[in-house]
Amino acid sequence: MTRSYEDLLKKAYTNITEPTEAEERFIVPTARVFIEGKTTVLENFADIASTLRRDQDHLMKHLLGELGTAGKIEGARAVFSGKFEQEQISSIIRSYVEDYVICSECGKPDTRLVKTDRILMLRCDACGGHRPVRKRRATVDPSAASKPTEGAIMDVTPQFLSKRGDGVVKIDRYTMYVANAKPGQTVKIRITRIAGTIIFTERVD
Ligand SMILES: [Zn+2]
Repeated sequence: MTRSYEDLLKKAYTNITEPTEAEERFIVPTARVFIEGKTTVLENFADIASTLRRDQDHLMKHLLGELGTAGKIEGARAVFSGKFEQEQISSIIRSYVEDYVICSECGKPDTRLVKTDRILMLRCDACGGHRPVRKRRATVDPSAASKPTEGAIMDVTPQFLSKRGDGVVKIDRYTMYVANAKPGQTVKIRITRIAGTIIFTERVD
Protein backbone atom coordinates (compact mmCIF):
# COMPACT_ATOMS: atom_id res chain seq x y z
CA MET A 1 0.00 0.00 0.00
CA THR A 2 2.80 2.36 0.99
CA ARG A 3 4.61 1.77 -2.23
CA SER A 4 1.65 2.41 -4.47
CA TYR A 5 0.89 5.60 -2.58
CA GLU A 6 4.48 6.74 -2.96
CA ASP A 7 4.39 5.83 -6.62
CA LEU A 8 1.26 7.86 -7.09
CA LEU A 9 2.78 10.77 -5.25
CA LYS A 10 5.92 10.54 -7.30
CA LYS A 11 3.92 10.38 -10.47
CA ALA A 12 1.79 13.35 -9.49
CA TYR A 13 4.88 15.31 -8.54
CA THR A 14 6.55 14.47 -11.83
CA ASN A 15 3.49 15.64 -13.69
CA ILE A 16 3.52 18.95 -11.88
CA THR A 17 7.18 19.75 -12.28
CA GLU A 18 7.49 18.56 -15.84
CA PRO A 19 7.97 21.67 -17.91
CA THR A 20 5.13 22.38 -20.23
CA GLU A 21 5.81 22.70 -23.92
CA ALA A 22 4.94 26.36 -23.84
CA GLU A 23 7.49 26.98 -21.11
CA GLU A 24 10.28 25.16 -22.90
CA ARG A 25 9.63 27.09 -26.06
CA PHE A 26 9.24 30.48 -24.46
CA ILE A 27 12.00 32.42 -26.09
CA VAL A 28 10.69 35.63 -27.57
CA PRO A 29 11.96 35.71 -31.15
CA THR A 30 14.31 38.56 -31.97
CA ALA A 31 12.37 41.21 -33.87
CA ARG A 32 13.40 41.18 -37.51
CA VAL A 33 13.02 44.76 -38.61
CA PHE A 34 13.85 46.49 -41.87
CA ILE A 35 12.98 49.72 -43.63
CA GLU A 36 10.93 49.48 -46.80
CA GLY A 37 10.42 52.82 -48.50
CA LYS A 38 8.79 55.09 -45.94
CA THR A 39 7.66 52.21 -43.76
CA THR A 40 9.20 49.90 -41.22
CA VAL A 41 8.49 46.20 -41.51
CA LEU A 42 8.44 43.82 -38.55
CA GLU A 43 8.89 40.68 -40.57
CA ASN A 44 8.22 38.08 -37.86
CA PHE A 45 5.28 39.82 -36.19
CA ALA A 46 2.92 36.80 -36.37
CA ASP A 47 5.63 34.53 -35.00
CA ILE A 48 6.17 36.85 -32.03
CA ALA A 49 2.43 37.13 -31.30
CA SER A 50 1.99 33.36 -31.39
CA THR A 51 5.05 32.75 -29.17
CA LEU A 52 3.56 35.19 -26.65
CA ARG A 53 0.17 33.54 -27.21
CA ARG A 54 -1.42 36.92 -27.61
CA ASP A 55 -3.96 38.24 -30.01
CA GLN A 56 -2.25 39.85 -33.03
CA ASP A 57 -4.57 42.86 -32.85
CA HIS A 58 -3.74 43.41 -29.18
CA LEU A 59 0.00 43.34 -29.78
CA MET A 60 -0.35 45.51 -32.88
CA LYS A 61 -2.43 48.10 -31.04
CA HIS A 62 0.26 48.27 -28.36
CA LEU A 63 3.07 48.68 -30.91
CA LEU A 64 1.19 51.42 -32.77
CA GLY A 65 0.43 53.27 -29.54
CA GLU A 66 4.02 53.15 -28.35
CA LEU A 67 5.48 54.10 -31.72
CA GLY A 68 2.82 56.78 -32.16
CA THR A 69 2.19 55.86 -35.75
CA ALA A 70 -0.24 54.08 -38.06
CA GLY A 71 0.24 50.65 -39.53
CA LYS A 72 -1.30 47.38 -40.54
CA ILE A 73 -0.88 43.65 -40.30
CA GLU A 74 0.06 42.13 -43.65
CA GLY A 75 0.04 38.37 -43.49
CA ALA A 76 2.79 37.39 -41.06
CA ARG A 77 4.30 40.88 -41.05
CA ALA A 78 3.45 44.16 -39.40
CA VAL A 79 4.06 47.34 -41.35
CA PHE A 80 4.46 50.71 -39.64
CA SER A 81 4.36 54.14 -41.25
CA GLY A 82 7.68 55.88 -40.73
CA LYS A 83 11.18 54.69 -40.01
CA PHE A 84 11.96 53.03 -36.71
CA GLU A 85 15.03 51.37 -35.27
CA GLN A 86 15.13 47.66 -34.51
CA GLU A 87 16.01 48.53 -30.90
CA GLN A 88 12.89 50.67 -30.47
CA ILE A 89 10.63 47.88 -31.62
CA SER A 90 12.47 45.28 -29.53
CA SER A 91 12.18 47.36 -26.39
CA ILE A 92 8.45 47.88 -26.93
CA ILE A 93 8.02 44.12 -27.32
CA ARG A 94 10.07 43.57 -24.14
CA SER A 95 7.84 45.89 -22.14
CA TYR A 96 4.76 44.24 -23.66
CA VAL A 97 6.02 40.86 -22.43
CA GLU A 98 6.57 42.29 -18.93
CA ASP A 99 3.18 43.96 -18.77
CA TYR A 100 0.92 41.58 -20.65
CA VAL A 101 2.53 38.14 -20.63
CA ILE A 102 4.78 37.29 -17.68
CA CYS A 103 3.08 36.33 -14.40
CA SER A 104 4.38 38.59 -11.64
CA GLU A 105 3.77 35.83 -9.08
CA CYS A 106 5.73 32.96 -10.61
CA GLY A 107 7.47 34.56 -13.55
CA LYS A 108 6.01 32.14 -16.04
CA PRO A 109 4.51 33.03 -19.41
CA ASP A 110 1.56 30.61 -19.23
CA THR A 111 -0.97 33.38 -18.85
CA ARG A 112 -4.15 34.66 -20.40
CA LEU A 113 -5.69 38.10 -20.59
CA VAL A 114 -9.20 38.12 -19.21
CA LYS A 115 -11.58 40.98 -18.73
CA THR A 116 -13.33 41.16 -15.35
CA ASP A 117 -15.73 44.05 -14.81
CA ARG A 118 -14.05 45.91 -17.65
CA ILE A 119 -10.66 45.54 -15.92
CA LEU A 120 -8.05 43.68 -17.91
CA MET A 121 -6.53 40.95 -15.75
CA LEU A 122 -3.55 38.72 -16.37
CA ARG A 123 -4.49 35.23 -15.23
CA CYS A 124 -1.76 32.63 -14.77
CA ASP A 125 -2.39 29.00 -15.72
CA ALA A 126 0.82 27.89 -14.00
CA CYS A 127 0.22 29.20 -10.47
CA GLY A 128 -3.38 30.43 -10.58
CA GLY A 129 -2.31 33.97 -9.76
CA HIS A 130 -4.00 36.94 -11.30
CA ARG A 131 -3.38 40.64 -11.26
CA PRO A 132 -4.64 43.67 -13.11
CA VAL A 133 -2.51 44.43 -16.12
CA ARG A 134 0.06 46.98 -15.10
CA LYS A 135 -0.79 50.56 -15.87
CA ARG A 136 1.14 52.20 -18.62
CA ARG A 137 4.32 53.76 -17.28
CA ALA A 138 3.44 57.12 -18.80
CA THR A 139 0.28 57.44 -16.74
CA VAL A 140 1.99 56.58 -13.45
CA ASP A 141 5.02 58.81 -14.00
CA PRO A 142 4.95 61.04 -10.87
CA SER A 143 7.49 63.57 -12.11
CA ALA A 144 5.70 65.61 -14.71
CA ALA A 145 8.78 67.80 -14.87
CA SER A 146 10.86 65.01 -16.40
CA LYS A 147 8.25 64.43 -19.07
CA PRO A 148 9.45 65.84 -22.38
CA THR A 149 7.20 68.45 -23.97
CA GLU A 150 7.20 69.88 -27.47
CA GLY A 151 9.02 73.19 -27.68
CA ALA A 152 11.20 72.47 -24.65
CA ILE A 153 14.85 73.48 -24.96
CA MET A 154 17.45 71.38 -23.17
CA ASP A 155 21.02 70.19 -23.14
CA VAL A 156 21.35 66.55 -24.07
CA THR A 157 24.20 64.10 -24.57
CA PRO A 158 23.61 61.32 -27.09
CA GLN A 159 24.50 57.86 -25.80
CA PHE A 160 24.95 56.21 -29.17
CA LEU A 161 24.36 56.67 -32.90
CA SER A 162 21.34 55.46 -34.81
CA LYS A 163 21.82 53.50 -38.01
CA ARG A 164 21.20 56.70 -39.93
CA GLY A 165 23.90 58.49 -37.99
CA ASP A 166 21.77 60.61 -35.67
CA GLY A 167 22.67 60.89 -32.02
CA VAL A 168 20.29 58.89 -29.80
CA VAL A 169 19.30 59.92 -26.27
CA LYS A 170 17.24 57.57 -24.12
CA ILE A 171 15.02 59.40 -21.62
CA ASP A 172 12.95 56.94 -19.59
CA ARG A 173 10.86 55.19 -22.24
CA TYR A 174 11.50 57.87 -24.86
CA THR A 175 14.00 57.76 -27.67
CA MET A 176 15.29 61.14 -28.83
CA TYR A 177 17.07 61.72 -32.11
CA VAL A 178 19.58 64.56 -32.46
CA ALA A 179 21.04 65.37 -35.87
CA ASN A 180 24.78 65.94 -36.20
CA ALA A 181 25.57 65.03 -32.61
CA LYS A 182 28.09 62.44 -31.58
CA PRO A 183 27.83 60.18 -28.53
CA GLY A 184 29.23 61.96 -25.49
CA GLN A 185 28.88 65.41 -27.07
CA THR A 186 26.54 67.74 -25.18
CA VAL A 187 24.35 69.85 -27.45
CA LYS A 188 21.43 72.23 -27.02
CA ILE A 189 18.21 71.14 -28.72
CA ARG A 190 14.58 72.10 -29.03
CA ILE A 191 11.94 69.35 -29.07
CA THR A 192 10.07 69.83 -32.33
CA ARG A 193 7.73 66.86 -32.16
CA ILE A 194 6.86 63.93 -29.90
CA ALA A 195 5.27 60.95 -31.61
CA GLY A 196 4.47 58.19 -29.13
CA THR A 197 7.83 57.44 -27.52
CA ILE A 198 9.87 59.08 -30.26
CA ILE A 199 11.21 62.60 -29.80
CA PHE A 200 12.30 64.68 -32.78
CA THR A 201 14.56 67.64 -32.20
CA GLU A 202 16.41 70.48 -33.82
CA ARG A 203 19.75 71.89 -32.78
CA VAL A 204 19.62 75.37 -31.29
CA ASP A 205 23.27 75.85 -30.41
ZN1 LIG B 1 1.99 32.41 -12.13
